[in-house]
Amino acid sequence: MTTRPFEPTSPAQHAAATAGEPPEPEEFAGGWWSIPVPMPGGHIPYNLCYTVRDETGGVHLIDPGWPMTGHLDELERGLAHMGADLASIRTITATHLHTDHLGGAGDLRAATGAQVVLHREEDRAVREMAGRRPAHAASDAIDRWEVPADRRLELDLHADERVDRPEADTVVDDGDLLPIPGRSIRVVHTPGHTTGHICLRDEDAGVLFTGDLLLPTIHPGIGLGAPGTTNPLADYLRSLQRVAAFDDDEAAPGHEYRFHGIAARAATTAEHHLRRSREVHAVLQRDRAHSVWEVASELTWSAGWANLNGFFLMSALAQTAMHIDFVRTDAGAAALA
Ligand SMILES: [Zn+2]
Repeated sequence: MTTRPFEPTSPAQHAAATAGEPPEPEEFAGGWWSIPVPMPGGHIPYNLCYTVRDETGGVHLIDPGWPMTGHLDELERGLAHMGADLASIRTITATHLHTDHLGGAGDLRAATGAQVVLHREEDRAVREMAGRRPAHAASDAIDRWEVPADRRLELDLHADERVDRPEADTVVDDGDLLPIPGRSIRVVHTPGHTTGHICLRDEDAGVLFTGDLLLPTIHPGIGLGAPGTTNPLADYLRSLQRVAAFDDDEAAPGHEYRFHGIAARAATTAEHHLRRSREVHAVLQRDRAHSVWEVASELTWSAGWANLNGFFLMSALAQTAMHIDFVRTDAGAAALA
């Protein structure tokens, strides 16, 4: 099968991402608009919120973004480009529960009365995690990973973070259409980044909203939602394969810029993670009795293992544990063969 080459489709968004600045709101395929919403921290400067009108004039949003001070004004300014305002908003769909996607939905619902839409799994995760620490940060994991005593405190501190996110008014499942009159926007369940992550496909316009499953240059983390019963990396690789079938679509991602070449980008993204799995596999083959801590200390980290601390150390250990589990599954063995 020949696939399309990877290629940015919005020169303005591509130029802005290269300069590290938010692009202007812009209209694209079939009456969609993209509105950048700033994020704190500076690591990733903004998410892309997508909006469209239904046949009655109501406005529907995908991923309202981070609830920073002034984010509703930011959205209102963006909506003005399409001649709409906050009062026209009918639904707010989030691709997944992370704050840079779902976070702003609570304020926005309170201001507009619009309904919040999530995948069933993601809504369950929001309810389970309400007011609780992220599961991968729990202290039983820190025990299991055999973290040395003198490194536990910084991880326990991180494990104490609390989260609060809006629950859904409407839950959707794979294959459902979003409640948008006159539009066919279909839900594609793509677990891996989180268990209830979804992509959304506008079948008439030929656009796939990829959330954080597939981004043009960033490799999204995996297993960053509620704990599931399956290996998040195996799920993620399956989700990449699934969206590769929509290779003729334009990808509208949660960050950076729109592009063509969904199958090509899915293949490079999968390879990025499999490279890590191969490295973990090689360490395990040298000595099967390694703990997660020991395996992690033998892997290459761009910052250097000795420089990882706090959140980054926690994330490195969680990733290592996930790769160790993956290489021991049948799917892992097959992928590495
Ligand atoms: Zn994101």
